Amino acid sequence: MKIGFIGLGIMGKPMARNVLKGGHQVVAYDVVPAALDAAVADGAARGESCRDVAGRSEVVITMLPDGPDVEQAILGANGVLEGAARGAVVIDMSSISPLVSQKVGAACASKGVEFLDAPVSGGEPKAVDATLAIMVGGKPEIFERMTPLLRLMGASVTLTGPVGAGNVTKLANQIMVACNIAAMGEALVLATKCGLDPEVVFHAVKGGLAGSTVLNAKAPTAIDRNFKPGFRIRLHEKDLRNALLAAESAKVSLPLTSTVQQMLIALMNSGSGDLDHSAIVTFVEEMAHTKIQRPIP
Ligand code: NAD
Repeated sequence: MKIGFIGLGIMGKPMARNVLKGGHQVVAYDVVPAALDAAVADGAARGESCRDVAGRSEVVITMLPDGPDVEQAILGANGVLEGAARGAVVIDMSSISPLVSQKVGAACASKGVEFLDAPVSGGEPKAVDATLAIMVGGKPEIFERMTPLLRLMGASVTLTGPVGAGNVTKLANQIMVACNIAAMGEALVLATKCGLDPEVVFHAVKGGLAGSTVLNAKAPTAIDRNFKPGFRIRLHEKDLRNALLAAESAKVSLPLTSTVQQMLIALMNSGSGDLDHSAIVTFVEEMAHTKIQRPIP
C-alpha cells in the first residue's frame, strides 16, 4: 500500500522504518527538516506538507505530540483532510485526548474518510523492535482491514471500542505507569536512606507481587542516574492532564493521578521537562535529600 507517515520524532521515525521494512511505499512529512531527511535516508519519499502526503497515500498515519498538533495536521490549512480521497483511512497513533479523537473522527467521516485512534505503549525500544502494544478505537471492519499494517509496528493490536476508546485505554495505561514510577521512587528513596543498596532491594522484590514491567525498565536506569529520554516528563504531564480532563467530564475522582501530575509540573518548572519520565524519582529524592544510588564504598 501507499502509506503516508506524519510526525517522525522519537517514536514516528522507527515506526515509519518498520512500515517500510514491511514492503509498503511510505511518503513522510515532519515540520522539522532534519527529521524528514532521516526518514528519506531510510527509504521514504519526501512529502511537502500534510495535504501533499494525504494526496499521495491510501492510508495516513500521524504520530504527533498532542491534540492541537493532530488537529492542525489533519483538520488545519494544508492538512490531511484537504488532500485525502474519499475512502482513505487516517490512523492517528499519537496519545491525545479522546475528545479530540472523536472530533477529528467526525470531521473525517463528514469527508468520507475512515478514522482510527491507535495510540501505543512501549516507548522507543519497542517502537524500534516493532513490539508496541497498540490500543485501537474505531469501526471493527476498518480495524480488521488495518490490522496487518498495525502488526508491522506492534506485537499486540487490540480493538477497545469506537473512536476515542483507544485513547481512553492509553490514558488508563499512563495513569498506571506514572503512579508506578512515583511509588518506585518513594520505595527506593526510603530503602537508600535506611542504608540499603537500591539495586539489592530491586533484585529482592522484582520476582514478587511488586515486580512489574515498569520496575524492570526504570529501576536500573534510575540507579544508574540515566534520565535520557525515552518518554519525556512533559509528554507524561500532557497525558495525565488529558486523563484529569476526561475524569472531570466523567465525574471520576483521580487523587493519585492528580498528585503525580503536580510532581510533573514541578519537575518541568525546575528544568527537567525533557528528561525521561523515570526522573519522577528525583522529585522524591529532593524532598528526602537522598539520591537513589549504590552506597559509596
Ligand atoms: P516527538 O516530539 O519526539 O515527535 C513528534 C514529531 O512530530 C516531531 O518530530 C515534530 O516535529 C512533529 N510534528 C509536530 N507537529 C507537526 C505537524 N503539524 N506536522 C508534522 N510534524 C509535526 O514525540 P514522540 O516521543 O515521538 O511522541 C509522539 C506521540 O507518541 C506523543 O503523543 C507521545 O505521548 C506518544 N508516545 C511516546 C512514547 C515515547 O516513549 N516517546 C511512548 C508512547 C507514546
